[in-house]
Amino acid sequence: MAGSRERACMNCKKITTGSECDNCGSTNLTTNYSGLIIIIDPEKSEIARELGLKKPGAYATKT
Ligand SMILES: [Zn+2]
Repeated sequence: MAGSRERACMNCKKITTGSECDNCGSTNLTTNYSGLIIIIDPEKSEIARELGLKKPGAYATKT
């Protein structure tokens, strides 16, 4: 795990360092994700719209 405590929510793909997702509250988290995108302005980001992301933050692209 190399010291990383970051996990991706299986539900909404948000990257979180806590024991539950700070976006949707799910505890269904995985360290086994690949890809990372940072959404700064969801309303102006085509990627965010494509993935259905509505809040700024870091998200996994694959879980
Ligand atoms: Zn979530």
